[in-house]
Amino acid sequence: MLIFEQGHAGRRSTTQASLQAIENTDIPAQFLRKTAPKLPEVSELQAVRHYTRLSQKNFSIDTHFYPLGSCTMKYNPRACNSLAMLSGFLNRHPAAPDSHSQGILACLYELQQILTEVTGMKGVSLAPAAGAQGEFTGVAMIRAYHEARGDSARTEMLVPDAAHGTNPASAAMCGFKVREIPTNSMGDVDLEALKAAVGTQTAGIMLTNPSTLGIFERNIQEIARIVHEAGGLLYYDGANLNAILGKVRPGDMGFDVIHINLHKTFSTPHGGGGPGSGPVGASERVLPYLPVPLVDFDGQTYRWLLEKECPETIGRLLAFGGNMGILLRAYIYAKMLGKEGMARIADFSALNANYLLAKTMQAGFDAAFPDRRASHEFILTLKKQAKECGVSTMDFAKRLLDKGFHAPTTYFPLLIPECLLIEPSETEDLETLDLFVDALIEIKHEAETQPELLKNAPHTLPVKRLDDVKAAKDLNIIWKG
Ligand SMILES: *Cc1c(COP(=O)(O)O)cnc(C)c1O
Repeated sequence: MLIFEQGHAGRRSTTQASLQAIENTDIPAQFLRKTAPKLPEVSELQAVRHYTRLSQKNFSIDTHFYPLGSCTMKYNPRACNSLAMLSGFLNRHPAAPDSHSQGILACLYELQQILTEVTGMKGVSLAPAAGAQGEFTGVAMIRAYHEARGDSARTEMLVPDAAHGTNPASAAMCGFKVREIPTNSMGDVDLEALKAAVGTQTAGIMLTNPSTLGIFERNIQEIARIVHEAGGLLYYDGANLNAILGKVRPGDMGFDVIHINLHKTFSTPHGGGGPGSGPVGASERVLPYLPVPLVDFDGQTYRWLLEKECPETIGRLLAFGGNMGILLRAYIYAKMLGKEGMARIADFSALNANYLLAKTMQAGFDAAFPDRRASHEFILTLKKQAKECGVSTMDFAKRLLDKGFHAPTTYFPLLIPECLLIEPSETEDLETLDLFVDALIEIKHEAETQPELLKNAPHTLPVKRLDDVKAAKDLNIIWKG
């Protein structure tokens, strides 16, 4: 039942703002509403029960295993959240002068240092507010690098066909022509195709390593050599750093630019369209083009660096310094973990993924790359089940909900038909992983014996299958009483 339908005229919760505060507002009269808003008229207890019940209808990390590949749906420690929400941070005005902001600037400066160290780059800007905005920023830095050298013929960005969809989109948004590079049967970039594609028109290549196929690109140094020799730069899509933290560094692999999704790897829950943060890192070549503001420290005081101090910067992305709440959570998370803790993330996220890969293969599932080790994630393909039982990956995914698991990512990457991209993350225990494998085995058996059980799933949830296209293109959430 909608909350509007539960109310009674005149029923009230506690008033939150005094009427006087509303009357004393500085908001110009023409912007003030003339009639009261039509809010649900419910008691505080009704409101609490309503939203608590709603939250219980949902799947979340706090309640369910959530192996959504490429999204890193791991448990984020409560401490990171509560410390980032200290009132000194929350109540700070974004335009406060440097002299009043030494504490937060110290945190941001150290975070810049930590991310620089973790990625092996020469500098980091915390400004971008999402992964895709980080990509746009990084590609704009590559463009600025070529422009500064008068190298205006470099109009093409190379993007492997395994890439996340935001990569070609970011390159195109920056005015580049996107040229796709094929993947070979082992899941690596096709080197012959790459050699044939590079030239004086090449601005760079956008890569993820481990790739979205869940495997480590073994020829990365060779790829870096080919692209650099052709005069191009290397972009690292670092949305998911779980597999490499404390192990290998994109800077050491030869990358020039990287973005990192703090809202995947560094302790901000991801998904649902919440706020994001996509800091960018730069090698020596592109360091001058980092977006402002940057935080500087002269040994005594911290200060923001703006266009004046960074004349070659590509400029500003946001009105202020970045998504502070997310930056602070990342900073606290990194300080809690330390160097050893970071490497443990990589150890356990890779161990968990490889354990699930081995267990599911043992149970008769087909891996997309059975001869390769998983990184922090891996791909199963349900081609055989689709052909023999007439069930789709979507049917499998929906049936998993009935068994109490959020489904893995489905139908991505696009290269693998009927695929599930499974990312358990480092925060799950062995028992949970085993229960998940049991559920997959049960569903496989159901597919063979009573496939309609899958086709009509989910059976146990408050809603059945939704029309995703209608929800995206024709969303109507307006209540008319
Ligand atoms: C999530 C993701 C992105 C995009 O990040 P957003 O913050 O959602 O814009 C880019 N690349 C990869 C590989 C991702 O997993």
